[in-house]
Amino acid sequence: MKPLDVDADADYINWPSKCCRCGSKNFNMEVHTEKVVLWTVLSVTKYRYISVEIPVCGSCSSAHFKWYGAAIACAAIGWSGLQVFHKSDKFILFWWVLAIILAIIGTRKKPLKILGFNEDNNTIRLQIYNHAFASEMRKKNQ
Ligand SMILES: [Zn+2]
Repeated sequence: MKPLDVDADADYINWPSKCCRCGSKNFNMEVHTEKVVLWTVLSVTKYRYISVEIPVCGSCSSAHFKWYGAAIACAAIGWSGLQVFHKSDKFILFWWVLAIILAIIGTRKKPLKILGFNEDNNTIRLQIYNHAFASEMRKKNQ
């Protein structure tokens, strides 16, 4: 399912009281930080680190680390094929491409994504994977 975008006040986000990814009632408030693009003009891009406290359960909070761990392991196999075992280019390429794919999946396994921050009206745009959670948030943050 495609994630949904939700806009909320950056200073006070009215969260539903459940995990933002799986909807579990067993959640904690955790700080989620992302480097967000504020604007891009030609080759100049302004970034800002945005931190928000999000409701997330233990398994959703750590899900992306498993994918990153697998990505690092594949990259290491590719590297050892190159440095230690002098394997063919195909072997090395295979493991490195796999590492990149796993890392990309890992970034999508984060509890949510901060898409943007609007300095003018102090709002934050979030990408929510859980549709029920997203529609509840939209109602609470109108
Ligand atoms: Zn969860």
